[in-house]
Amino acid sequence: MIGTENMNREYIMASIRNYLIDKPFKQINLKAVLFDMDGVLYNSMPNHAKAWTDTLAEFGVQFPVEEAYMHEGRTGESTIDIAFRRTFGRSVSKEEVRRIYSIKTERFNQCPAAEVMPGASDLLKKLKYKELQPMLVTGSGQKSLLERLNTHFPDTFERRMMITADDVQFGKPHPEPYLKALELGGFRPDEALVVENAPLGVEAAHSAGIFTICVNTGPLPDSILLDAGADLLFDTMPALNNAWEEIVIQITNYELRIKNYECNPKRQMDS
Ligand code: CA
Repeated sequence: MIGTENMNREYIMASIRNYLIDKPFKQINLKAVLFDMDGVLYNSMPNHAKAWTDTLAEFGVQFPVEEAYMHEGRTGESTIDIAFRRTFGRSVSKEEVRRIYSIKTERFNQCPAAEVMPGASDLLKKLKYKELQPMLVTGSGQKSLLERLNTHFPDTFERRMMITADDVQFGKPHPEPYLKALELGGFRPDEALVVENAPLGVEAAHSAGIFTICVNTGPLPDSILLDAGADLLFDTMPALNNAWEEIVIQITNYELRIKNYECNPKRQMDS
């Protein structure tokens, strides 16, 4: 939990230093911000989680809501397979996947439309002032995606700057979606930030070598997201939005000067 501005500053600086210590570059040259969608731009995860829990229960599989959050970002097939192996000790067939996933999608579509996450629009507007490139990196493959994004976030996301389910072979937690986004935008890992909300998404972004900001908009404990590799953690999108200017200032100014010393002073002294 983050309180005062000073605490924010110290926390942000420490997270940038820790990130750089681990990486082959001395500073972040910020050019792009890569956004996950569900749970970051839209408050759609409660609908997804309920649709998963109810659908799998119909097939005799217990899948608590928290588990849906743990698997958020995984492909539908992989999620169903994990649940089947645990419950029935066997993998799921293609036909079962097709049936279960279509019922899950139907249930999700019957839910009231997910609202835009508070704070998301304000944050995206701030990107424009700094001429930072927004990109979307989602495991979702809904056809109406772009139209909906254009309605809620006008003139922000371009189709050519998006990675969706159709663009990747491996879903999160594989780094592929984020690596492909970097490739698509012509950015290096040290030129981007990721905003994610789920453990597997954080893991994917972290594995791609990108500084990863997590907004914990779901019910999971912070520790799960930090263990997955989150560099910075906020409770909500408005909290991230409030800290945004400070993040950009620190990222712009912070340069790791004495890499070896900062790398592990204790070990050097010990040896
Ligand atoms: Ca998400």
